[in-house]
Amino acid sequence: MMIDSPVTSVKGVGPKKAEALDRLGIHTMSDLLYFYPRDYEDRRSPVAVSDLVPGEPAFVKAVVISVVKTPGRYRKKQILKVLAEDSTGRMEAVFFNASFLARDFTQGEVYCFYGKPTSSQGHIQMIHPEFAKADSASGEIVPVYPLTSGITQREIRKLEKAASQFAGEAEEDLPDEVIKDNALCDIGYALSNVHFPETMEALRKAKYRLIYDELFVMHIGLLMMRTKCSDGIAFSRDGAETEYQKYLPYELTGAQKRVVKEIAADMESHQQMNRLIQGDVGSGKTAVAECALYKAVKSGYQGAFMAPTELLARQHFKTLSNDLGPLGVRIGFLSGHLSKSEKDEVAEGLRSGKMDIVIGTHALIQPSVEFSDLGLVITDEQHRFGVNQRALLSEKGNDPDILVMTATPIPRTLAVIMYGDIDISVLDEMPPGRQEILTKAVTDKSRGIVYDFLRGEISRGRQAYVVAPLIDKTEDIDARSVTEVYDELKKKFPEFRIALLHGQMNEKEKDAVMEEFAAGGYDILVATVVIEVGIAVANATVMVIENAERFGLAQLHQLRGRVGRGREQSYCVLISNGEGQVSKDRARTMVESSDGFYIAEKDLELRGPGEFFGTRQHGIPDMQLADLVKHMDIMEAVRGTASEVLRDDPELTAGKNTPLRKRVEAMFGRGSIINI
Ligand code: ADP
Ligand code: MG
Repeated sequence: MMIDSPVTSVKGVGPKKAEALDRLGIHTMSDLLYFYPRDYEDRRSPVAVSDLVPGEPAFVKAVVISVVKTPGRYRKKQILKVLAEDSTGRMEAVFFNASFLARDFTQGEVYCFYGKPTSSQGHIQMIHPEFAKADSASGEIVPVYPLTSGITQREIRKLEKAASQFAGEAEEDLPDEVIKDNALCDIGYALSNVHFPETMEALRKAKYRLIYDELFVMHIGLLMMRTKCSDGIAFSRDGAETEYQKYLPYELTGAQKRVVKEIAADMESHQQMNRLIQGDVGSGKTAVAECALYKAVKSGYQGAFMAPTELLARQHFKTLSNDLGPLGVRIGFLSGHLSKSEKDEVAEGLRSGKMDIVIGTHALIQPSVEFSDLGLVITDEQHRFGVNQRALLSEKGNDPDILVMTATPIPRTLAVIMYGDIDISVLDEMPPGRQEILTKAVTDKSRGIVYDFLRGEISRGRQAYVVAPLIDKTEDIDARSVTEVYDELKKKFPEFRIALLHGQMNEKEKDAVMEEFAAGGYDILVATVVIEVGIAVANATVMVIENAERFGLAQLHQLRGRVGRGREQSYCVLISNGEGQVSKDRARTMVESSDGFYIAEKDLELRGPGEFFGTRQHGIPDMQLADLVKHMDIMEAVRGTASEVLRDDPELTAGKNTPLRKRVEAMFGRGSIINI
């Protein structure tokens, strides 16, 4: 057998087992080596029976005193009870419907048990503990693997043990100098010790090396996608971005002016711009985008502006048509919902150069969309577009400048991971006249008070949003639906004009409702999160969120940002029936803070990075051990080294870098580096 041998070459692995292993992505011995434990049991020092705490998994060494089987009767489970003791006390290991295990125990012998103790009528028990004869199981740190049906912990451990003898044959994929400079252990040591560590220190070293490895390979991959583009367009130094500000109905804030300057400097240099604009909801990102687009058009180039939803794209289209249209800029709109002839018309305008700017959804990245001279690509994304989608859009130009706008503040290290080596501008100032939105968190019981308040605001001529998590009531989810809330409000407030908005309506209907609401034709808009992004109605002052416990913090913050868009005092009411600590923490954070950055950090803390960023959507590969937030310090270490390696060998063509190149390709998919 060798490291590349199939798992079926191990004795006892037949087609059934192979199938289960296949579900875990394991086909060869090498796959086993790279399939890491999810946890470890420290079986080096046993816990005294008298020290067992119910609920806390522990390792115990005890002599078996008796083995008793109770026969299974009709509807009753067969029970096997193994009584064992150490010098401090007795405990019972209990197994249901597994009396065949009786054979594995011999009275008077010492066994190791590992399990979660429970307390039953004064006895301490372990239900279905893991066990083994003491001589074979003591003194070890034992790996615990993620499982699938058809394979047990015991079986996979045996396979891993067999595989670990090949760890030394594993190919070293990190360049020598990277290992030396960062004092990493070699891959053989890491793969052997991540499974069967002799000491905790060995485990730490092994894991550090493997985490470093994952982050390094990922970072190299992201950098390689980026380095393709460094020379770009040098737009005219004509002050168009400043000239444009005269046409706006308001004066830009200091922050907006600063960011526009930063963008203009990037655009005028012949380096390709790759800039991220972070600005909280309502900070005025659109005006900044307009300045950049106007500049691009004045220099004779086209601009593309991509938004994550149809509604938002349409809103941007309207804003830009209003602001830029009168200046002679020709603007088009594109989404998947247009008719064929409408699409063709836009495509023709872009190809011939008759159209200067196009705004749209991801329909913009379709192959049929071609530009005569695309110079600036803007994505307003709220984390919804992947690395690939952004790249596909910019490929339609000749190294166009790139601007990414987001309302979710991200720590710099994470921004670099998600967007490559990007420059960041921050809009840290709100347009004048905005008031703090008063936020209250209440429970279901206060609904009456909330409705009275709603009536008061609407009677004063204001409008309100009521958001609920579901479209229709479903039996298995305990949450309110918009149809239910809509019916209830209609009954409660027959004098008010109430509308319904959700994702299952078609675009025309949605637009009609939104437009009517914006024009003041409705008092209350009952909606799902389809209104989450970007929609602005100045007269709306109340945002009521039903089942607030079901929304993430960043999402709540976005929803709250729908009000407070005008000069009136605005309110946000979070109704929740969540009793859990997380939902309480969430409500408190929302009531206490209106700072998007702080809220984002809390969100990250409460939910973890996977959910927060949806890494999959961003084209960031899944990693086994590395955690983008927990291992930010390792990430820092990785960044410098990765740049150095690529500086010496940008395409990783040197022989010594071949294994690394293979890893990068494996992580991002073959050909990804070449295509993007
Ligand atoms: P976001 O950053 O959330 O995309 P928008 O660009 O939609 O914010 O701007 C929010 C609102 O503020 C819009 O109605 C816009 O017209 C207005 N606005 C933007 N900049 C200013 C400013 N400097 N002064 C006054 N109002 C502004
Ligand atoms: Mg916006």
